[in-house]
Amino acid sequence: MDRANIVIIGGGVVGCAIARAVSQGWDDVFLLDQMPKLGMVTSSRNSGVIHSGLYYTPGSLKARHCLAGNRLTYEFCAAHNVPHRRTGKLVVTTTPEEAELTHLAERGRANGLEGLRIVDRAAIRAREPHIEGHAALEVPSTGIVASEELVKAYARVAAEQGANILTHARVVRLEPQKDSIQVWIRTGNAAGPTSDASVESVDARCVVNAAGLFADEVAAVYPLPHPEGLSLGLHFTKTLWGTVLVGPTARYVADKADYERDRLPVEEFVRRAKPMLPEIEASDLTLAYSGLRPKLVPPPDPARDKPGVKRIADFVITRDPNVPHAIQLIGIDSPGLTAAPSIAQHVSQLVAQTLE
Ligand SMILES: Cc1cc2nc3c(=O)[nH]c(=O)nc-3n(C[C@H](O)[C@H](O)[C@H](O)COP(=O)(O)OP(=O)(O)OC[C@H]3O[C@@H](n4cnc5c(N)ncnc54)[C@H](O)[C@@H]3O)c2cc1C
Repeated sequence: MDRANIVIIGGGVVGCAIARAVSQGWDDVFLLDQMPKLGMVTSSRNSGVIHSGLYYTPGSLKARHCLAGNRLTYEFCAAHNVPHRRTGKLVVTTTPEEAELTHLAERGRANGLEGLRIVDRAAIRAREPHIEGHAALEVPSTGIVASEELVKAYARVAAEQGANILTHARVVRLEPQKDSIQVWIRTGNAAGPTSDASVESVDARCVVNAAGLFADEVAAVYPLPHPEGLSLGLHFTKTLWGTVLVGPTARYVADKADYERDRLPVEEFVRRAKPMLPEIEASDLTLAYSGLRPKLVPPPDPARDKPGVKRIADFVITRDPNVPHAIQLIGIDSPGLTAAPSIAQHVSQLVAQTLE
């Protein structure tokens, strides 16, 4: 492994989808992840929803890749036996005020969503007998997927097409050359007394930074001038295992390994869920896992932010203006799981330009 056409840093859902896409057309593709297994970071700590693309600003990368990714994810899951289900979704309002639902429906249609319709209380109850709501926006294209299986399936297809997949392989340095990038990799298990770690390098004609939460570190801090939106808010998500996820809630944390500190108690989820699901009690819930989204902006600042404006930062997917052989993917937060196969097609086009 001294030369490669393409090195992809990061074996989450995005890196694996990219490996699958680029290994259709190129050989000498390497996918590297620092963890013992693929998809161990954000790609297995999410809600597993195949999002529709309802919420994102028309024309944004999030809107484009979520809508296309929704269709591509269903097609891929069906073709490769990844557990999934097209459940549809209800966005429920508990007050008689329907303006927000109408606005959401208009935004969804502008993004290309089909089959959206506003339904009344009777229709909500017919579908979800325990849910209390005045009206709801019905979104037929939303679904659920087993995210770990999805990551594995993208990687499996990539490997079948000839991609080389290495775990326990941490990229520790990138040195731009004239027509390539020298990628320095620490391989092996550095932990414990029986460390078998060693450092080697590969000369790559194209490097794709798909390192998720750590993409900023791999990119050595990329310009990030984006407005923000922390999360879409509390959801009820049916899982493929017959349980229901309530959440996620969201807050800023500084530490990228901080999954447990200051977790909200179960009672807080009950408080937020109760207006829509009056029967819910703390005894119905068990505290589940948490995950970290890579955010491009600092926490909200009431002194600077416009009141009532909910803002969502867009994905950054670009050839690096300073290092043309590098492709940077920054701020791939939600809906990254859904968008991954469409992001992969986008990155394939950038790879083709790079390798021309
Ligand atoms: C609570 C929560 C709920 C969510 N729900 C949804 C949802 O329902 N639907 C949806 O579409 N999206 C959802 N998302 C977003 C989605 O999970 C992410 O956008 C997606 O998983 C990002 O994938 P990724 O491959 O970019 O990043 P990651 O999964 O973080 O993968 C990056 C990989 O890079 C590796 N890496 C980092 N640095 C290095 C290095 N130096 N060398 C080698 N490897 C390295 C890491 O080990 C990691 O495996 C949710 C996110 C959260 C946090």
